[in-house]
Parts: sequence; C-alpha cells; structure tokens
Amino acid sequence: MNKEIITAKWFKTRYTLNKNGWLQPLRNAPVEYYDPFNPYINDNGNSDNLYLLFTNLDIEKGKEIENFYNRFGPLGLMSRDFGSIYPMPKDDQMTAEKYKEEELFFTDSENNPVPFETGATLHQFDAAPFINKFRSDGIVPELTEIQQEAGENVELFKWEHLKFRSVIDLYTAIQENEIHSIQNVLLLLDSINNTKPMIIDGDYPKIIDLDYDVAENHAEEKPKAWWTDKNNNDVIRKSLEELMLHLNREIGNRPFLKLVFDPVDLTINKSVRWRCESLLNAMYIMLINNITEGLRIKRCIGCGKYYHVGRPEMKYCELSCQNRAKMRRYQEKIRRVQDLSTRGMEPEEIARELNAELKQVLKWISAWRG
Ligand SMILES: [Zn+2]
Repeated sequence: MNKEIITAKWFKTRYTLNKNGWLQPLRNAPVEYYDPFNPYINDNGNSDNLYLLFTNLDIEKGKEIENFYNRFGPLGLMSRDFGSIYPMPKDDQMTAEKYKEEELFFTDSENNPVPFETGATLHQFDAAPFINKFRSDGIVPELTEIQQEAGENVELFKWEHLKFRSVIDLYTAIQENEIHSIQNVLLLLDSINNTKPMIIDGDYPKIIDLDYDVAENHAEEKPKAWWTDKNNNDVIRKSLEELMLHLNREIGNRPFLKLVFDPVDLTINKSVRWRCESLLNAMYIMLINNITEGLRIKRCIGCGKYYHVGRPEMKYCELSCQNRAKMRRYQEKIRRVQDLSTRGMEPEEIARELNAELKQVLKWISAWRG
C-alpha cells in the first residue's frame, strides 16, 4: 500500500470514560500527532495489527475501551457525521464587520447545514470558545481542532465496533464457505444498520442505549432471506456483493480522484487518494486493503480472538493458545476419569471409553484418591 495516497491527520491524547458513558479528553493533556499507517505498512500482517486489536476488544470492559483511546486516540466519529465547518451569513449583505453577522455551521453527510451549537451538544464540546474566536478574529475552526476537545459516546463506539466485527465475521464466513454463518451475519448486519444508537430529534440529538439483544431481535422481526431457493454458490456470490456494499458504505466518499500535473514530463496524470479523517476510516481502509490482497482472517477456536492466518491449517491464534487448549483438554480428561471411577466404572473400561492408556488411567485415579 502506497502511503503517498493517504491524506489525513491523526492525533492522540489522554482520555477518560466518565460515568455518563462518554469518553472525554482530559483538559490540558498533551496532544500528539501520529500516523496509524506507519506500523501497518512497515509490518504488514503483524500480530499487533490495529484493526484486529480493535476487533478483539472486550467492549464489556470500559477499561479496555479507555485504554484503546489512550493508545490510538478517538475513533473520529464526529468527522463521520460532519464534512466541514463554514460560516454562513445571516443575510446576504457583507459588511466590514461581517463576522458578527455570520453563524458557524457544520455540513452533515448530505451537505445540509447543522448549527455549530447542535454539533457541540452532539459531540460534547464547549462551543463558546470557538464561536468567540470566530466573532472576534473571523477564525473558522478546523475539524481536527474541535475533535481534540470533543467526547465520544461509548454506546456509539460499541455500535461501530459491533458493525466492524460483523463485517469481518462476514468475510471469514465467506472464506470458510460457512453458509449458515453467512446468513446469520447478514441478518445481524442488516439490523445493526437499522439500530444506530444516536437519533436526531428535530435539532436536538439524543443517544439511546444500544441493547445487544435489540439488534438480534430486530433481525428476527425483519428477516431478509434472499437466500431461500438459492444454491450455495449463489449465496457465496451474493454475499460477496453484500460485503462489498457494506465496505463501500463505510468508506463513503472518502477515496477521491484528482488530476496532477508533472512539470518535468509535461503530462497530466490521474491520482487516487484516500481521505480518511477518522481512525475508524483508517481501520476500514486497512481492512479493505487486506481483503483485496486476499489475506485470510480467522477466529481462534481457543480464545475467540481474530487473527491473520499464516498457515491455513492453523486453528489457533498462536502456539501458546494452542498449548493452553491442549492443557484444558488434558485436565478435562483427568476429570472424566475420576468422575467415571466415582460412579464405579472399572479402570479397564474407563481406558476403553476415553481411549486412554490403562497405566495413565490408574495413575490419575490413584493420584486423586491420594
Ligand atoms: Zn487464541
């Protein structure tokens, strides 16, 4: 992946998850700019891959979410709602003191104006300092500048997380040809898209709690089972198309085409750039890039974590996880031997039943009887 084609600005600072469910930046904490694509490009497919770290978060643990923010900064949810900030005149007449006659607005995803104060309520930042600066000096704030002051709602974070994980689930189910899983994920994705925990009621934004059962109940109410009467090949084909549609929706209009002039060759060329104003977009772009490269992702049967597949026959995220699973199975076998022995089964019979060596069975029984 060519780094030259990405245009963005990422930052991180200190965050805390408050009791109202908002991740808020700490006042006066230093802001550090960084590029999440650096480790991605230099160490592709590594175990510390950003979007896999995100997918593997245990979102029931607020501390894990808070740590993620402190390590990588906000998801950038505001820049997914708003495109830019601009001043709009109260009337058409421009005077010498025109800034006093203008108001600041955000543009939403459909390019409609949203009052600056509404944006401030929606994203939990103090609008006053920005408005004052605009009134006194005519300075229009930059989105990044505001993002550094803004909070992010944990319910929205969970919603985006669930959606991201489900897209990966769809991808892995397609790779494994698991028709039943594909159908389940498609139903879930459909209901997730219909249960965004943020609603705008008039001008006033409201966050509703996302109950995880809500998404699943919704799926039961509104099944969109296009796969009835379709054979498995058709299901795979159509679900690949669905995967593409979901990913395209997530990146929205971010990739753009631009003409560039080369003064040496005297040629005009086209150049495709990715604009990703948020960390979440960056993670989607990394995922899309890996999908187009054909990189395999699996879910570990031992610990449930998602990982990049090195060897296709591998079923565990790493060797230590495989060893832990082996140990669990071993201990489980010992417990069963002891259990059957308590119920009066003879050691020879137990050995046959559990496909174990008699010597070993006798040893486990005697160890347990002390
Ligand atoms: Zn594992």
